[in-house]
Amino acid sequence: MKKLLNELIQLQELYFAQEEHKVAGEEEQLNELELAIETLSKQLPAKTAGYFQQLQRRDPPAIAPVVNQTCYGCGINLPTSLSAELFRFDTLYQCPNCARFLYPYQGPKLTLHDPMLQHKLPRLGIEKFSSEKLMLARLQAEDGPGAISEIAHLISGQLFFPDPQILIDKALKREAIMPTAMDHALAFPHVRGVDAGCLTLALGLKPKGIKFGAAKNRLTKIFFFIVIPISASAFYLKLLAGLVETFQSAEARNTLLECEDPALLWKTLKKLTSKYIR
Ligand SMILES: [Zn+2]
Repeated sequence: MKKLLNELIQLQELYFAQEEHKVAGEEEQLNELELAIETLSKQLPAKTAGYFQQLQRRDPPAIAPVVNQTCYGCGINLPTSLSAELFRFDTLYQCPNCARFLYPYQGPKLTLHDPMLQHKLPRLGIEKFSSEKLMLARLQAEDGPGAISEIAHLISGQLFFPDPQILIDKALKREAIMPTAMDHALAFPHVRGVDAGCLTLALGLKPKGIKFGAAKNRLTKIFFFIVIPISASAFYLKLLAGLVETFQSAEARNTLLECEDPALLWKTLKKLTSKYIR
């Protein structure tokens, strides 16, 4: 049963990646993801695979983690007996309310605390997700894992999140499924499944560029690192779409890359994204 659950979680990750690349309009990766979804689906029991696709079409995600007896698909509190049974891994369980497949979340608690983000209301546009404290105008790192680590440490330090390694491991695991590097020197490394907090974005720049898995070996210069709570999956896709729209323009990218300190970078990011992120 554990194997089946892991396959379903993996399938869900592929669907998430597919949504992200659809938003960015990247054909090549989409074909690759489609094939991976098809291959993995064929390995599953036919009934399970069919039902998974049905759920995924209706209201993704099709499989949700259970944290502290709560279904993270719909937010309902599950009966104590069901929460306990999940840990026996002998049957595939579904939420009695939303019908999603369930798995017990066994990782560390990933709560982000940001007193500043909570107090400065009302906030508009990109300010809902980020702040000057999360801007890295010049990354020191010279490779992809280094860039992820550097930004994760910034998020961790600024948001009082005790263990950056959790962010690093989760982000690298996601990159292994399909690089989040897109066209136009952009990349969107991210971490899903935080069990509280809000959608959070940090930005790191490397004007010289880093190899991050983009098509045709192109270099990545602009890294948007995003932490996505389960409840914010839909907002995340909107944020991603807004960022892709904004930075399709070479002029916008160059303006951003010229910023050499966090204050100017934050001011510029707010200004550039105001049209597409509201
Ligand atoms: Zn549910």
